[in-house]
Amino acid sequence: MKLQLPNEVTNTKTVLLLIVAAYIFSLAMRTIWVMEVQAIPSFYWNHALMINTNDGYFFAEGARDILNGSHQANDLSPINEPLSLLTAWLSKIIPVSFETLILTMPAFLGSLIVIPLVLIGRALNQTTMGFIAALIGSVAYSYYNRTMSGYYDTDMLNIVFPVFEIYSLILALTHQRNRYLIPITVSIALYQWWYPQAYSLDSALFGIIIGYALFSDRKNIYFYKIALFILIGILSLPIWIKLLLALTIFALFHFQPKQNQKQFWALFAGVALLYFVTGGIDPIWGQLKGYLFRETLSNEDGALHFYNVAQTVREAGHIPFTVFAERISGHTITFVLACIGYLLAIIAYRPLIITLPLVALGFIAMSAGLRFTIYAVAPMALGFAYLLLLITQTIEKRWLQIVTLFVFTGAALYPNYLHIKEYMTPTVFTSQEVSMLDKLGKIASREDYVISWWDYGYPIRYYSDVKTLVDGGKHSGDVNYPASYILTQPQQNAAFMARLSVEYTERGWENNKSAIIAEMLKESKADSVDDMMVNLQLNPTLLPKPTRDVYLYLPLRMMDILPTVTLFSHLDLKNPDNKEEQPFFYATQQIQDTGKTIELGNGISILKEKSTLKMGNQEVPIKGFYQVGYNKENTLEVNEQHFSSEGLNVIYMASYGRFVIVDDFYFNSAYIQMFVFDHYDPKLFEPVLSDPMTKIYKLKV
Ligand code: MG
Repeated sequence: MKLQLPNEVTNTKTVLLLIVAAYIFSLAMRTIWVMEVQAIPSFYWNHALMINTNDGYFFAEGARDILNGSHQANDLSPINEPLSLLTAWLSKIIPVSFETLILTMPAFLGSLIVIPLVLIGRALNQTTMGFIAALIGSVAYSYYNRTMSGYYDTDMLNIVFPVFEIYSLILALTHQRNRYLIPITVSIALYQWWYPQAYSLDSALFGIIIGYALFSDRKNIYFYKIALFILIGILSLPIWIKLLLALTIFALFHFQPKQNQKQFWALFAGVALLYFVTGGIDPIWGQLKGYLFRETLSNEDGALHFYNVAQTVREAGHIPFTVFAERISGHTITFVLACIGYLLAIIAYRPLIITLPLVALGFIAMSAGLRFTIYAVAPMALGFAYLLLLITQTIEKRWLQIVTLFVFTGAALYPNYLHIKEYMTPTVFTSQEVSMLDKLGKIASREDYVISWWDYGYPIRYYSDVKTLVDGGKHSGDVNYPASYILTQPQQNAAFMARLSVEYTERGWENNKSAIIAEMLKESKADSVDDMMVNLQLNPTLLPKPTRDVYLYLPLRMMDILPTVTLFSHLDLKNPDNKEEQPFFYATQQIQDTGKTIELGNGISILKEKSTLKMGNQEVPIKGFYQVGYNKENTLEVNEQHFSSEGLNVIYMASYGRFVIVDDFYFNSAYIQMFVFDHYDPKLFEPVLSDPMTKIYKLKV
């Protein structure tokens, strides 16, 4: 079923032209977001649009520190991460601001996927197929979402590298010459360096080549050479050693055309042994278990049981078929056609079998969550392109054939274009929030700690250049515990825990004891955190000597996630089964005044005459009613009325158009008192920076 297209383009100039055209198309689609949001002033910092992925600030911090030539011990700055290294290097040679660089890198690098796609087509003598696949593959939902402008993360090359691997393998399989072995090791070694989790995928490629050999031509030693060069690329060794090894073995093959079978298999066994010694299949098994069985990682230290963060990860979850199909091909119909085309293409072009691991990984999304769909985008784009060419090859008139290809490719691209136009991701922070962090950076020293929820860890470290307790990569139950405790406990406890957790974290780096809560309890000879707090109140000199300043970062955006924050410390560490009832919190911006009542959504309303709350069928007394708002002089004013000794507290944040209903637990929390009311205990805290979006306090104990 090989395609019989007349005049299939294969000359280098045309191929180059097609690559450039596809690349420009991919880039152009990635400027749509920039065009649409460039009128929003709050998305700018340093005269450039900000990035729209939280994790990006992690790599940006690393790149910034590499460029500065220094960073602080144990500040978690990723100065050895490939993305940080690449960014710092590019920043030296490309004359744009750092902000512009990290904004545009995903678009420029993510679009590189068109190169191996067009080349795969060419290697199979079907450049048109490669070109159509490049157009679709570069803009399909899930690929676009994770390589769009501003999505500064390792994703920008996470698919480009494996598609290059596929290309190098197809070249080798089709030509079966020794010189095509080197690109295999190069592309795999690069991918392994960029993304060590690629270990499983690359190992699967090894497996499939062995299978390919056994089922097609088991006597052909060239297939085993390919497997050998894949294995060299995977080895957990420095990249230059792998390349040296590959070159040496290549030279051996090259200068010794009459191969000695025994020698080859000895080499093979040696490299296989290295594979098992340096890593083996353990990492793969570990990953599979994590993804497929959602193994709950226990994070216990000693007898303490912390809240498991894995339960709150949003991405892991079952997804409906249409979402799955759209994320891979842009539309369910395109996806179904792509699947059919893919199967036919594999039959027609057997080397395409090696794309199976990518497809399998993409289809894992059905059970492991939508982040995986991205892997199936490129093979399915090839499948669709193949089917399209197969159907249109019977059209005799050349011009009609081209028009038909054009129309159907356009039809497949259109839903993706619509998606891109509607996908208006906001920046991580607004410029107002960033300006506060920038000011904080000028006040705080690099060794100081800023305590907040983990969601804000990376941006805080990037904009303020300080240390944090938790961040997007460090947020297991045991490290989230103190952060949660500080934000949700009354100020006295919060202040003690802030000092304790910072000093114990720093000490933990030195003496390698990272279980800081267990260490605190041990040293203060307390049975529980409550006991420890009582001891400290009786004798505050038990508190560790401050080695640095500590700041509390309280943003408005934390309001909505306060109940989640609370989960991590509102629990009995010694008896995990002893489920404490979670305190009451309700916040809303949906407010409707009906005259007699104020409707707050979810069946909750305020009965004005009775001064009570109606929740479903229940009536609950209002303990206190607080109206908080900024006056014309921009100072905060609080009006309060008290109705009952029991019940819930109602806070009307007039300047924000928000109602917050809380029980006494939340009412007395450091966050509500210090963010909403600006009520701070001057013996414990000192306000440093304040605006309606952010309040920052300095710890005085
Ligand atoms: Mg630093």
